[in-house]
Amino acid sequence: MNNFQLEEHPHQRLNILTGEWVLVSPHRTKRPWQGKVEKVNKDPLPTYDAACYLCPGNSRMGGDVNPDYKAPFAFTNDFGALMADTPAGEVLTDNLLHARGVKGICRVICFSPRHDLTLPLLETADIRKVITLWLEEYRQLSADPAIKYIQIFENKGDIMGCSNPHPHGQIWATSDVPAELIKETSHQKRYYDATGKSLLQSYVTLELEKQERIVCENEHFVALVPFWAVWPFETMIISKRHVPDITHFTEAEHMALAEILKRLTTKYDNLFETSFPYSAGMHQAPVNDGAHPEWHWHMHFYPPLLRSASVKKFMVGYELLASPQRDITPEWAAKKLQSLPEVHYSL
Ligand SMILES: [Zn+2]
Ligand SMILES: [Zn+2]
Repeated sequence: MNNFQLEEHPHQRLNILTGEWVLVSPHRTKRPWQGKVEKVNKDPLPTYDAACYLCPGNSRMGGDVNPDYKAPFAFTNDFGALMADTPAGEVLTDNLLHARGVKGICRVICFSPRHDLTLPLLETADIRKVITLWLEEYRQLSADPAIKYIQIFENKGDIMGCSNPHPHGQIWATSDVPAELIKETSHQKRYYDATGKSLLQSYVTLELEKQERIVCENEHFVALVPFWAVWPFETMIISKRHVPDITHFTEAEHMALAEILKRLTTKYDNLFETSFPYSAGMHQAPVNDGAHPEWHWHMHFYPPLLRSASVKKFMVGYELLASPQRDITPEWAAKKLQSLPEVHYSL
């Protein structure tokens, strides 16, 4: 007799994209939900801040002056983690000390000329302009054959180490495929080679049938809490169509992506009535690396908050030493997010 139940008993769940396992302890959430809205006394941000290095017309740290931009605007980070002119090189000593040069470029993407408008507060049409700029940047960066991967991401909130509230994201393009992408490529490829199908296509189809972890969806995209989520309110946006990267999206898909980004980030802000912090980014096929028919475009959101605007989940102890662990189940988190309004609390 097997009484094992996901909603009752501690268990591990497999992340099908990385092959790693997460420990889920649902019995610990029998404790009452302590989620609460705190009165965080924050003055509203100004629409323009003379001290902000991202606002239109202002000087940046490197001395360049931003144009008086009216639409999303990109520039090369004056103090990026990567450099375009790193010489090729490798160090290998006794198969123990191994290092190799990486070249690349770090771009900064200002989502809006307005200092105070985050993604959920932008109009859908304006989020779409951000998507158009992501696409242009992706095309330009991939034109350099030395570039193998383009990571588009956003780090939002000072709790995530992002000190400037001006809405912006980053793009790091590198001469190597980064570790997380090597894992995801390998697991998608194994599935594709065995079945001829996209791993995430099969996964999304199953999630839409089950309706247990869906946060919201539209004609072209699904936002869900993945079965293997680690962070309390971690989500993914997955395209319903199997495409390897952003360049394959139609006009209708651009609009639908803008729409679902606005809905998901609005729900996030409404959860604790705060400007919800997260690291988010797209995962897509490597570039200048041959065909990758296994790859299925998706976006991850990793938010650190657990119970309120100030209570953060820490990855410590067992999680740091052994395996990530969560208490509230992905199913519970999905229902919570699904139930939240899609009108921003501040409006
Ligand atoms: Zn600004
Ligand atoms: Zn991914």
